Amino acid sequence: MTQTYTQAPISAAEFFAGRSYTQASAPGRVNLLGEHTDYNDGFMLPIATPQRTTVSMAIGDEPGFRFYSATLGSEARFGGGGGDSNNPGEDAPTGFARYIFGCIRLLGERGVAVPGLRVHVDSNVPLGTGLSSSAALEVATLRALRSLLAVELDDVALALLAQQAEIQYAGVNCGVMDQMASSLADAENMLFLDARTLATRILPLPAAAEIIVIDSGVARTLEASKYNERRAECERAASMLGVPALRDVVDVDAVEALPEPLRQRARHVVSEDLRVLDAIGGVSAAHFGQLMSASHASLRDDYEVSIGALDSLVALLCATDGVHGARLTGAGFGGACVALCRKGAAADIGASVVKRFNAGGGSAGLLLPYSAIH
Ligand code: ADP
Ligand code: MG
Repeated sequence: MTQTYTQAPISAAEFFAGRSYTQASAPGRVNLLGEHTDYNDGFMLPIATPQRTTVSMAIGDEPGFRFYSATLGSEARFGGGGGDSNNPGEDAPTGFARYIFGCIRLLGERGVAVPGLRVHVDSNVPLGTGLSSSAALEVATLRALRSLLAVELDDVALALLAQQAEIQYAGVNCGVMDQMASSLADAENMLFLDARTLATRILPLPAAAEIIVIDSGVARTLEASKYNERRAECERAASMLGVPALRDVVDVDAVEALPEPLRQRARHVVSEDLRVLDAIGGVSAAHFGQLMSASHASLRDDYEVSIGALDSLVALLCATDGVHGARLTGAGFGGACVALCRKGAAADIGASVVKRFNAGGGSAGLLLPYSAIH
C-alpha cells in the first residue's frame, strides 16, 4: 500500500474530476446513559451527533483501490496489481484505509462482487474523542456501497457488518452500540438499544432539556488494554454468577458475594442497566440528570475507568446552574463528558465550563452544541 499526504484538503468534486459518484453519510454518537453495558448484553441510550462523516464513491476505471480522506489529508492506494475485494495484493491497507477496506471485504464475503473503487471521505465528526468517528466512517462507507452496488442490507445488518469491520480489520474489540447508534439513531431523539436482542426504540429527550458534550483534551491512552481487562472481568463475574451475561442479573444485591474487583465491576454493570431502564420511563430532565451523575460515580468508583480530568469536568458541570447531571461518555480513560441541561442554556454553560477548566491548565473543547463552535 502507498500512503500520500496532501496539504490542502481535496473536495469530492475535485477528487472525482467530473465523473459521477454516489454519496452517503452517517453521524457520530454520544452515549447518554448505559456505559460498558453493550458487551454485557445490556441496555444503552445513545443519540446521534449533528456532525457527520460523508463517503463518496465511484467504480474506478482501473483495478485496485484509491481511498482519500480530506479529514486527514491522506490517500491510500493498494491492490493495483489486478486485485479485487477478496485479493488486495500483498500491500493490504493500514491506517484509516482498514476501516473502509474491512467493509468492502465483508461485503465480498457475503457474495457481493466489489470492483476497484475510488473513495473520498470527509467529516466534521472529531476523531478519537469518543464520538465514534470510526463507526461513522464504517456506516457511511457501507451505506455508500449499499447504494452504489444495489446491495440488499437493512440498517441492523449494516450496523453488524460495520462492527465486524472494526473488530476484524481495525483490530478494535468493540461492542455493538457505536455502529447501531450511527446506523439507527438521529440527532434529536435518544435510541434505546438492547444489545442482546438488538431491539431499538426511538424516545424523545427529557422535556425542556438539551445536551452538552465537552472533550477533556486527554487522549484515551489506556483505553484498549483496560477495556479488554474490564470485558474479561465481566465475563468472569457472569460465569461465577452462573448467567450467560451480566444483563441477566436483575437484582443488584446478587453481586455482593463476588470477590473484588469482580463485585465492583458487576455492580456497575447491573446498576447501570437499571438506570437505563429507569430513564426510558419518560422521566423528567432533573431525574435523568441524577441518573447520569449516578452513572459517573459508578464508572469512577466501581468500574474505575475515569480519570482526574473527567472527574473535574463533571464536577464543574454539576456545580453550574442549569445543569441536571453529567458523566463521562465513551469507554473512559480520557475522551469526553456529556451533560444534560436546561434547554437554551447549553452553549453558554458549555463555553463557560470549558473556559474555567482550561484556566486551570486544561485543553478541553466544546463538541456539542455543535453550532456553538461554528
Ligand atoms: P473515535 O471512534 O472515538 O473517534 P477511534 O480511535 O475509534 O476514535 O477511531 C478514530 C480512527 O478512525 C482514526 O484514527 C481514523 O483511522 C479513522 N477515521 C475516523 N474518521 C475518519 C475520517 N473522516 N477520515 C479518515 N479516517 C477516519
Ligand atoms: Mg471508535
